[in-house]
Amino acid sequence: MRIPCAYANWKMHKTLPEALEFIYEFVPALFRDVKEGDVGVTIFPPAPYIWPIRQELGDDSPIFIGSQNIYTEKEGAFTGELSGNILRSAGASHILVGHSERRHKLDESNELVGRKLDRVIRDRLFPVLCVGELLRDREAGRTKEVVKEQLEAAWTGQEVTGGAIIAYEPVWAIGTGKNAEPRDAQEMCEYIRTWIAEYFTPETAASIRILYGGSVNPENISQYARLPDVDGALVGGASLDPGSFAAIAKAIAHSGGAR
Ligand code: PEP
Repeated sequence: MRIPCAYANWKMHKTLPEALEFIYEFVPALFRDVKEGDVGVTIFPPAPYIWPIRQELGDDSPIFIGSQNIYTEKEGAFTGELSGNILRSAGASHILVGHSERRHKLDESNELVGRKLDRVIRDRLFPVLCVGELLRDREAGRTKEVVKEQLEAAWTGQEVTGGAIIAYEPVWAIGTGKNAEPRDAQEMCEYIRTWIAEYFTPETAASIRILYGGSVNPENISQYARLPDVDGALVGGASLDPGSFAAIAKAIAHSGGAR
């Protein structure tokens, strides 16, 4: 069973007081109309806010906190990096891996993304693997080829469970206001699910959650939330405002429930 999800990627935005203010407003706005279990919400704040937000939410909150990044090694002399154990002890359960800004602005290769995914799985955290094509790939008709290369490079023999999440995020749609056509998002999420069925098992493919990301907002989310292979959204810009992210999470929760 796949509970749909709404994930907020705050990137390098907000001060700590602004982040806590978001939580005060978002939690009541979300649970006014949504029951726990209707939608899985995870917030990926800047790393120093993981612990204060976790504290603010309390241990019994159904809202998860994630990290936007992880290092490949378990521990050691790696100044400035963050391990899975450090992130977990601060309250993170989910880790973004391979976000397009890290691939394309910070030069993370497919190979490095694979090593990070490996780390997340070994450390028993939930990976959110981001894949997606550049505009030039789409225009050249290479969308599926590029996404397949990213998937194959990331999963280098690790086990995968239904707890893993994949986000299909066409790079040209991220932060541009140019969201993908719903039929294209469905086609790619279905393609990814079929790949998972062939590479792993049909059972894994049926249980893994696949999200769409790229200029999602409260106005366009319902077009994606009802697609059969789209289990929710990874949201950047529109997740910075508590009212807007609550509206997105509610639309996902009310989209027909678990699949
Ligand atoms: C993202 O950062 O993953 C993202 C999808 O951003 P935006 O919603 O702003 O396009």
